[in-house]
Amino acid sequence: MNIPELHPAFTPQEAVVEANRCLFCFDAPCTAACPTHIDVPRFIKKIASANLRGSANTILESNVLGLSCSRVCPVDVLCEGSCVMHRYNKQPIEIGRLQRHAMETWYDDMENRDWANLTRPVQHPQKIACIGAGPASLACAAELRKLGYAVTLFEARQRPGGLNTYGVAEYKFTPGDAAREIAFIGALGVDIRTGVEVGKDITFDQLESQFDAIFLGVGLGPTQKLGIPGENLPGVIDAVRFIAAYKTEARYDVGARTVVIGGGNTAIDAAIAARILGAEESIMAYRRGESEMPAFEFEYDHAKAFGVRFQWNAAPVRIIGEDSVKGVEFACTESGTLRTIEGANFTIGCDMVIVALGQSKLGAMLGDRLKMADGRVLADPATGVTSNPKYFAAGDCASGGREVVDAVAEGKRAAHGIQESFNA
Ligand code: SF4
Repeated sequence: MNIPELHPAFTPQEAVVEANRCLFCFDAPCTAACPTHIDVPRFIKKIASANLRGSANTILESNVLGLSCSRVCPVDVLCEGSCVMHRYNKQPIEIGRLQRHAMETWYDDMENRDWANLTRPVQHPQKIACIGAGPASLACAAELRKLGYAVTLFEARQRPGGLNTYGVAEYKFTPGDAAREIAFIGALGVDIRTGVEVGKDITFDQLESQFDAIFLGVGLGPTQKLGIPGENLPGVIDAVRFIAAYKTEARYDVGARTVVIGGGNTAIDAAIAARILGAEESIMAYRRGESEMPAFEFEYDHAKAFGVRFQWNAAPVRIIGEDSVKGVEFACTESGTLRTIEGANFTIGCDMVIVALGQSKLGAMLGDRLKMADGRVLADPATGVTSNPKYFAAGDCASGGREVVDAVAEGKRAAHGIQESFNA
């Protein structure tokens, strides 16, 4: 299947034409709307004047994951959503695609160069451990290296990147794209150690004795359970594991008829991925109505373009099958409430069920080391500092789950919070 991309690449000519449409606003609302505050008019102006290296550097100054954010950001509700062009009833500037153009050109160019001179010198005696190698940790680690600190990043999985490697749907961003950014962050001088599980391969006590500050960017826990009969049948998989598996395995077979349970952006990603991987039918079942679906509208449109079907007001009651999945029984719910309608159950036959109910918050890993609330690490959003002044946290483990660009912004803020704590 031909995979239409979310923000397809511009040709160089198209990029220059689009860049020249920008009004290069003073106090640009697009910059204010970006959580990492990329100087959008500045990087666009550099594209217009054919200074692509300068354009990429402008992006990277604010957002070290400028490539991934150009691909996965919900630009419709962030930078492009606030572009002044809307006021003139014109198409907003395609900021995401311009950013992608600048960043991909930069990486294509950089990969033919010697990266040794990117390494930032260590200027301070303090050492920092970053736990997790997702966007928040990568951003925090990169910012700390820019500030002159020695940083070691610990990741339990074999590949770094977190969500960008394992969790973002392939049609938006591939593991190869994520690897480019990780190579860049490694070249800055971040010591990235994969396959090291904190709490097992290295204890928190050991970290505390070896490092002056510890940053937690460990993301969310596993996908929430449905809590209905049949949930453990072969052919039932949670969406996060499903996306990670098809992104990292050479071959991944899906059912001919796949039901995705959930109504968020991850459910949409899974439903589209099922179609891309060969499902003849991919049906998203959501327990509320269409207008209550939490997924972004552009994601919904994207799913429809892929032929994903939607079943509204459907609450799963049980998964049917003995040795494998044969279908899902649903109860009908009333719109606006979650009350089920008596005697209105129905079944959708299928051979695969993907559960996308959202991820649970963490808790067990940290024990009583830090104050938690609702499974999240309690952290000051301005500095990332937690109830223990040696620990900082940002990204999904502290926020409960937001966009990649939010994690980057929060990780950066925590890096400065860590620096302030050393200077206090
Ligand atoms: Fe350009 Fe739109 Fe940003 Fe103004 S708001 S600088 S027109 S992208």
